[in-house]
Amino acid sequence: MAAGAGQGETMALAGPHSAKATSANPPQRLTVLGATGSIGASTLDLVARSGSAFEVFAVTAHANVEALAACARSCGAERAVIGDATLYKALKDALSGTSIAAAAGEEALIEAASVPVDCTIAAIVGAAGLKPALAAVRTGRRLGLANKECLVSAGDVFMREVARAGCELIPVDSEHSAAFQVLKDAAPESIERIVLTASGGPFRDWPIERIAIASRADALNHPNWSMGSKISVDSATMMNKGLELIEALHLFPVATHQLGMLVHPQSIVHCLVSFVDGSVLAQMAEPDMRTPIALALSWPQRMAAPTKRLDLAEIAQLTFQAADEVRFPAIRIARAAMERGGTAPAVLNAANEIAVAAFLDGRLRVPDIAVMVEETLGMADREGLLAEAVGLEAIISCDQEARRLCREIVAGRT
Ligand code: NDP
Repeated sequence: MAAGAGQGETMALAGPHSAKATSANPPQRLTVLGATGSIGASTLDLVARSGSAFEVFAVTAHANVEALAACARSCGAERAVIGDATLYKALKDALSGTSIAAAAGEEALIEAASVPVDCTIAAIVGAAGLKPALAAVRTGRRLGLANKECLVSAGDVFMREVARAGCELIPVDSEHSAAFQVLKDAAPESIERIVLTASGGPFRDWPIERIAIASRADALNHPNWSMGSKISVDSATMMNKGLELIEALHLFPVATHQLGMLVHPQSIVHCLVSFVDGSVLAQMAEPDMRTPIALALSWPQRMAAPTKRLDLAEIAQLTFQAADEVRFPAIRIARAAMERGGTAPAVLNAANEIAVAAFLDGRLRVPDIAVMVEETLGMADREGLLAEAVGLEAIISCDQEARRLCREIVAGRT
């Protein structure tokens, strides 16, 4: 169970979230970090459909000024923040004629995230989202966490801050949202195993020779989910599932050997939890991120989400198979980093971000991504970088050094 999240609460009867704010039931104030992305757009879609139930304080983006200004206007945000400090004037111009305050730069992102609101959705991609998400944690309010890289890089530090601040952390990643729901009120000693499901991505049935020559478009062509480019590539290499194992290790009271994965091509069952009495509980839903986002926005109640309803007769078959670590070596590499612990997951994550960016730029092929990550981990080990994760600053400097190493390795390769 995620620290502080709904523990000891009684599940309210399912029903739509209040579509109308009243004085007894005021609007929930919301900040969306990474509002122009796939998760950000799904969040704002739910908000738009919820009448006056939500009121948006801040929306943020990195460089996409037009999209940020458009979403700030349409959701009536009080503040729009662009991460790239050089884009302040462009944002200000794009917001002219509105009362939306513009801000720019990393400090402005962190400052916006530090303003207490009822719920922050952390949907920046990559370790760039760590400091803003931590700022939101420190407000001691609710955090809907989509940004898995935060927990992969700095899970111990992050969860310590969650506990210290009394933050209500609700996972948004669909598998972790599923586990969160299934594990509600479960005693840690009753949990035997958590199994995350994986669609298998676009290359699930591809032979290794075909994966070796896959294009950028092939990697971005996810069969079940519509997502941002980085996570789509992570799904194609199955590094995504490796990152999710590490995410689960920090969110739930289990050890590494209690975490597993299963390929489930239909993406209907999101997670299976086995208990010591032999019961296995699962959560099912159509693959649409608006379901876990709605849960994060409304827990412990449930708000309406306009997703396709699950029709098992139509689907007819749910299938499961073991993950193939030969065609998808990223799984083995991520698991090894998880077992090593300390700063190894931060190095894994940083190297993966660099390698994925190089792939998206056309400088690497799909199989090179795992090779670059493994070589970076090896070099980091030889340089004594794989150590205890003592604090945030140490993790950030390790992340930066791992990026430098990986860039060198990629440059050597290309
Ligand atoms: P997108 O790439 O679609 O969106 C990323 C968002 O982060 C954009 O708003 C982008 O702004 C912003 N951003 C990017 N870089 C920076 C930066 N350096 N500083 C500040 N903001 C930045 O990503 P997704 O929505 O797909 O994913 C977001 C997170 O959620 C990821 O961690 C992903 O793993 C996780 N997640 C996503 C799922 C999905 O279905 N999409 C499912 C489960 C988890 P701009 O538009 O200006 O570039």
